[in-house]
Amino acid sequence: MRKATKVRLYPTIEQKQLLAQQFGCSRFWWNKALSLQYEHRFEQERWLKRTELNAMLPGLKVELPWLSDCYSQVLQATTKHLEQAFKNWFEGRAKKPRFKAKKNNQSISFPQNVKIVENNLKIPKIGLIKAKFSRSIEGEIKTVTISVTPSGKYFAAIGLDLGDVEVEQSTDGVITGIDLGLKDYVTCHNGTETYSIKHPKWLKRHERNLRKHQKQLSRRNGSRSSTACTKQSGVNIALFDETVKTALPLKGSNRKNKARLLVTRVHERLSNTRQDFLHKLSRKITDESQVVVVENLNIKGMVKNRKLSKAIVQSGWGMFLNFLSYKLEHKGGVLVEIDRFFPSSKTCSKCGYIHTELELKDREWTCKQCSTHHLRDDNASRNIRTEGIRILGLGHSPRGDDVRLEACFEQLSVKRVPSFEQLTLF
Ligand SMILES: [Zn+2]
Repeated sequence: MRKATKVRLYPTIEQKQLLAQQFGCSRFWWNKALSLQYEHRFEQERWLKRTELNAMLPGLKVELPWLSDCYSQVLQATTKHLEQAFKNWFEGRAKKPRFKAKKNNQSISFPQNVKIVENNLKIPKIGLIKAKFSRSIEGEIKTVTISVTPSGKYFAAIGLDLGDVEVEQSTDGVITGIDLGLKDYVTCHNGTETYSIKHPKWLKRHERNLRKHQKQLSRRNGSRSSTACTKQSGVNIALFDETVKTALPLKGSNRKNKARLLVTRVHERLSNTRQDFLHKLSRKITDESQVVVVENLNIKGMVKNRKLSKAIVQSGWGMFLNFLSYKLEHKGGVLVEIDRFFPSSKTCSKCGYIHTELELKDREWTCKQCSTHHLRDDNASRNIRTEGIRILGLGHSPRGDDVRLEACFEQLSVKRVPSFEQLTLF
């Protein structure tokens, strides 16, 4: 079984410069290899293999001696990532691979040879970097990815191989149906009780702060293009670090760069708060259930609806489902996603009557057939759960039969692949 953990790094100024060099080399090779791919495809009508690309590296290093400063396995890992990017494109999981720009792609991967020495991270060609581990590391270290955030914080995502660990089968067989909402973040029904978790309004809390800093930033003199750049959200704007100014792209005046740094910091804080909340919530739900049933939301489609979009993007549902999925998988549970056209709110959870006139603003309603009074979200979570049970082929037993559950897992579980960054031990 593989797990990953993320640690904060505190490199020295010299180490930051060495890292910046390697980030640059890796990005250069990505862009070079990508253009070689497209050229080759155009001329020979076939794509280059990973081994063919790697075979070009020694020649390229003679031509461009500075490329030898980079640890060779970092470049080979880049080729591997490119191969994966193409695979994701061919199999319809992602858009076609794009060229990388300095402003938002500062990461490198070491496929091996990274060691932990006295609670610090020893990295080839860079040396011992001070690290902060929040928990002890178990298992064999596999890939280590080092990245830097726009505000200049360094992190290492460490992939660990725990070997053949017996996945602990939980035997409680609790099936939880979850209705995702804007007012309450989730409403859960597990067969015996319904509970809801309020939506934390992170953005509101951070918004005033953000607006203040953004205003300040737009007041700083600068070209129109850099103003547009900050409007895009600030997360991907030019990297700024107080200590290694030379290694990073800077635009405009010093005052402007400082204002820009403040905006990125607020964005980072917001994103950390969100991740923290989602990890804790998914952990709670995973601990309490073996099977979780959710609606397969078309989040991209919903974001187009401008009235709802801000709240939806902010709530990070996609990330939440990814967290749930891998946490359940680690404990031997499963996440079942049901069709998003399933009328979870409109169906009476008691008699099955479909109340077609239900509108989005109606928070409660009474069934015309059996006169049960329903709270919208509570009713939806019950229906989602029932639908999940139906899909699993378990009939309407309130508590599932474990043996049959296991048989259903393989064919039914929708494998969500959380990004490496999202996959942290929690
Ligand atoms: Zn009814």
